[in-house]
Amino acid sequence: MTKKVLILPGDGIGQEVTKSSNEILNYLISEHSLDFEVNTMDVGGTAYDLHGSPIPSNVLSSAKDSDAILFGAVGGPKWDDLGWDDRPEQALLTLRKELGLFANLRPAFLFNELASASPIKNNIIEGLDILIVRELTGGVYFGEPRAIVKDETPNYAFNTMIYNEDEIRRIAKIGFESARKRNGKLCSVEKANVLEVSKFWREIVTDMSKDYPDVELTHQLADNTAMQLVLNPNQYDVIVSSNLFGDILSDIAATLSGSIGMLPSASLNSSSQGMYEPCHGSAPDIAGQNIANPIAMIASLAMALRYSLNEPGLADNIENAIKVFVENGNRTKDITTSGEFIHTSDVASKLIEIMKNG
Ligand code: NAD
Repeated sequence: MTKKVLILPGDGIGQEVTKSSNEILNYLISEHSLDFEVNTMDVGGTAYDLHGSPIPSNVLSSAKDSDAILFGAVGGPKWDDLGWDDRPEQALLTLRKELGLFANLRPAFLFNELASASPIKNNIIEGLDILIVRELTGGVYFGEPRAIVKDETPNYAFNTMIYNEDEIRRIAKIGFESARKRNGKLCSVEKANVLEVSKFWREIVTDMSKDYPDVELTHQLADNTAMQLVLNPNQYDVIVSSNLFGDILSDIAATLSGSIGMLPSASLNSSSQGMYEPCHGSAPDIAGQNIANPIAMIASLAMALRYSLNEPGLADNIENAIKVFVENGNRTKDITTSGEFIHTSDVASKLIEIMKNG
């Protein structure tokens, strides 16, 4: 059956990095005669300027009808003063909500050749290869009731951290199954020492571990994980956590690897439909200069091939090509130490050359 891929370049360097991933996608489609239908549409500030909405209704319906969405990045100072509903970020939030993308997968890895770009000492960081699985549509960011109350003395504000059993089971399942495909270790992170919702989370995850005897399950308190990620990140294989703790931990893990321009992400729903995007934003400071690192976007395409497009072998090909590309000394501006660098628009052709020879 034809697989549908929707490309949403968005704003700033989103436009540049999706050009690179498109080059690779087009090469794979023609080289392997893939039955893919690919469409490109506007989102974010660009869509607001051209169509009056950061996520026009035809974009949303095309997204719902796609197997995989490749999302560049949105936002920029030009749109900072717009009202909440018109802001470019609405595109992301609407897609996550409307497609029910509850599982956010963020790998954090380091190519040893780039260890000097990491803020952490080489002997601690070498070999880094972690997957953070973050719950994305529940928890305290969405829990009701929530309010700022200003007609009482003293004024106060509150949010609700809530997870039901089904929400915990479906995200933990992704954690267990990801661990099974990697090195067989899952660390579930919460604050079971102080929060009822975390105690409940731990109970459910522990119960599920009976079905995964091949996965070694550990539990850790979120504050300790924040510390351990910096002190000894190689103790982890897969980390599964709630929306709030996962948000914080995935940013710490991203920082370990040196450049945000290298890290992909996937957000999946229960039918393996997914949105794939780099961890970085639209980088207005370097947009239009042909110096952005497109690897995060290209690695996001690899994740799309693995998780939504049923082409895990091609995902491996891309990831191996990225490895060889770095081993061969190719550096974009953000990761160069010599001052010499390769431009955005030249990265895809180098990777294709490596895949052809590989
Ligand atoms: P950013 O990730 O865009 O940039 C942070 C820094 O990293 C900048 O110095 C930038 O030049 C650099 N950088 C980012 N990606 C890079 C790449 N691929 N290659 C080389 N260098 C890269 O974050 P920001 O500056 O805080 O935000 C800029 C805009 O992006 C804002 O409007 C923000 O709201 C938006 N944003 C969007 C997303 C998204 O679309 N998912 C995520 C984060 C921020």
